[in-house]
Amino acid sequence: MISRPQATIHLANIAANWQALDRLNPGSTTAAVIKANGYGLGDHMIAQTLMKMGCTTFFVAHIEEAVNIRRLLGAGARIFVLNGVTLRQARIFIDKDLTPVLSTDQHVALWAQAPRIGCALHFDTGMNRLGLSPDRLSSQAETMRKLQPLLVMSHLACADEPDNPLNAQQLKAFAQIAAAFPDVPASLANSAGCFLGHEYAFDLTRPGIALYGGSQPPLGITLQPAITLEALVLSVFEGKAGQSVGYGATHMLKQDTLLATVALGYADGIPRSGGNALMSYLDGTPCPVLGRISMDLITIDVSKAQKAAKPGARVEFLGYNAKLEEQAARAGTLGYELLTGLGYRVKRNYR
Ligand SMILES: *Cc1c(COP(=O)(O)O)cnc(C)c1O
Repeated sequence: MISRPQATIHLANIAANWQALDRLNPGSTTAAVIKANGYGLGDHMIAQTLMKMGCTTFFVAHIEEAVNIRRLLGAGARIFVLNGVTLRQARIFIDKDLTPVLSTDQHVALWAQAPRIGCALHFDTGMNRLGLSPDRLSSQAETMRKLQPLLVMSHLACADEPDNPLNAQQLKAFAQIAAAFPDVPASLANSAGCFLGHEYAFDLTRPGIALYGGSQPPLGITLQPAITLEALVLSVFEGKAGQSVGYGATHMLKQDTLLATVALGYADGIPRSGGNALMSYLDGTPCPVLGRISMDLITIDVSKAQKAAKPGARVEFLGYNAKLEEQAARAGTLGYELLTGLGYRVKRNYR
């Protein structure tokens, strides 16, 4: 029996999520963002699955990720590298047919020297993180057009807040940039941007987290969980009223309580901020986390699960019951951080 935490990655659900997003904006191409090892879930399996569904455009952050994906997928995929290109990397981009996303003046100057293989131009329309200044268009539009970009793009800062006025401001700024490159496909929307309406979709959308079951889709759009994370019950015992649970004695038992300790902890990526806050599920019965999260152990209240609570049982910490964004919110974080934080010790199994 495997005692490590087990993650079942639901590839069919990831595929269904991609299709749901693709249906949402029929006029535009739906790419897949698979950076950070596919948000922790395994970029190889995800890329292969989505390619079978007809997804041919992928985004990663680093050239190393891109080289791996190219080796896996062969020539049929377009692979964009969000973090740009350095002089030393240029040769690899060309040899492996990878597409750099140019987002600084240095990137543009460097790529102007390279043979004409495609690039993307990333403009900053108000996030002030990464991207070319739209001011450059007045002086450098010709230079940029000569690069024959395959894509012009920008990134939304507040797409997860539909009412934030910055969305409309960025949309307006980006529409002007896109108009300066009339023959070049344009892209603005990440997952949350896909939910803001058709005018945000342009020619290509770049969902990441929604593929993996995260984000807050509006009513009428259901995303499937991409992962079920389960931990093994090591011990079941009765905690006595008036006693405490775990490091720092942060939870006091008000009554005699059936407790279980499971083999999962912050070394596996469960945030310590989830102490006394996360919810686990045993056979679908909610079992709250009591006390602090330890490195390898978490103690839960199994008094409602009763007979199902025995050593060797598996407790769900993410999945159909423990929904990603709800669980993340309990720990004061986001689905992004929970997924990408899952540790090396978590065994990934693919369905
Ligand atoms: C990570 C990233 C995305 C995907 O964002 P999600 O919120 O996960 O959908 C899209 N575009 C850029 C530029 C990114 O860095």
